[in-house]
Amino acid sequence: MPAKYEGLDFYNIDAHLTDEERMVRDLVRQWVDDKVLPIIEKHNRAHTFPDELIPEIGEMGLLGMNMEGYGCAGMSNVAYGLACQELERGDSAIRSFVSVQGSLAMHPIHSFGSEEQKQKYLPKMARAELIGCFGLTEPDYGSNPGGMVTKAVEDGDHYVLNGAKMWITNGTIADLAIVWAKLIPQGGTLADGVIRGFIVEKGDPGFSAPEMHGKHSLKASVTSELVFEDCRIPKDRILPHVHGLRGPFSCLNNARYGISWGVLGAAQACFHSARDYALTRIQFDKPIASYQLVQNKLAWMLREITKGQLLALHLGRMKDDGTMFHEQVSLAKMNNVDIALDIARIARDMHGANGILDEYPVMRHMANLETVKTYEGTHDIHNLILGRWITGIQAFF
Ligand SMILES: Cc1cc2nc3c(=O)[nH]c(=O)nc-3n(C[C@H](O)[C@H](O)[C@H](O)COP(=O)(O)OP(=O)(O)OC[C@H]3O[C@@H](n4cnc5c(N)ncnc54)[C@H](O)[C@@H]3O)c2cc1C
Repeated sequence: MPAKYEGLDFYNIDAHLTDEERMVRDLVRQWVDDKVLPIIEKHNRAHTFPDELIPEIGEMGLLGMNMEGYGCAGMSNVAYGLACQELERGDSAIRSFVSVQGSLAMHPIHSFGSEEQKQKYLPKMARAELIGCFGLTEPDYGSNPGGMVTKAVEDGDHYVLNGAKMWITNGTIADLAIVWAKLIPQGGTLADGVIRGFIVEKGDPGFSAPEMHGKHSLKASVTSELVFEDCRIPKDRILPHVHGLRGPFSCLNNARYGISWGVLGAAQACFHSARDYALTRIQFDKPIASYQLVQNKLAWMLREITKGQLLALHLGRMKDDGTMFHEQVSLAKMNNVDIALDIARIARDMHGANGILDEYPVMRHMANLETVKTYEGTHDIHNLILGRWITGIQAFF
């Protein structure tokens, strides 16, 4: 029997969690050990998402878990963060699935939807009976979503959408897509358009979601295009309570928060693999763990993971008491992804040639974290957000 997984907790963060938060963390931790780790390499090799896990993710109450009502679990943001951490210890694809469903698809309906939309979609999404995705990025507009060219126009009691989204997690398997598009007034041009959120359902005429192929990262996640060719949706599918980029940015803020916890799970998986390998790998007649250079690397990993955990916990407590502001999320997302990626790269190196094999999780995490560095705001964009906060000067363009 392999030893039960114990997370890294050098500063006894456990003591600062509630019983409920510890319970969620332990439940998800055990589930990842039992259900994710035994199958994830197979799915990663095959470029497939483990669909078979979706009902269990719903049963555990992880979808929209930090939201109130409509079948959501109503737990703290710290509990949500801890769940993300454990899920991403399994694989970024699993955490991405949960982030997209909760923070990017359920959150906009919960915050900006009509009562009818909430009743119709949220309970089923919480139970994983309906899967959602979030369409913001376009082929020519990634870091600059305000430039989007996907548009909607009114036509009687319908909206007609034209355009394309790219890099959309869960797109092909989704039952509904939250699509951000510019609503053009009658007789107006794209320049007159206002960004609005629309709920597009699988099967709507003129809508397709082909899967993208050829990824070296997040291979166990479904990534898709969303294509709208005179796609007609009823008028009651617009999100009535939000206009402009505030809508998608509010979703991204929630997802980025989850990422700042999630990547600590990937980092811990790499740290533990590197430590175990270093203790057993003999070179020059001694375990490589006995060499100062190797210990220095492990000590650095411990230091950075511990700092990242304190950052995430404090951010979560501020989110729970309503004092968090979005620049603080940028700092945590950027920092924690950065250290996780560096830890994965160093862990890969410490495994020598074995580090490139899928017998060890390190290269999979390393490759995944390259995506996590880019999506939900690149490293550069978060630096620009912080630069603007520090100086008051906008340096995006
Ligand atoms: C696997 C995967 C899943 C994804 N899932 C989703 C999803 O579900 N929904 C969704 O809408 N999107 C999704 N994305 C898209 C992701 O959010 C974008 O890739 C991201 O916003 C960056 O956009 P881009 O790729 O167009 O890069 P670009 O914006 O073209 O950036 C390229 C480079 O230029 C830099 N750069 C850009 N602007 C500036 C500037 N002003 N100053 C300095 N440097 C700058 C960037 O930091 C980056 O290094 C996903 C991406 C991936 C890889």
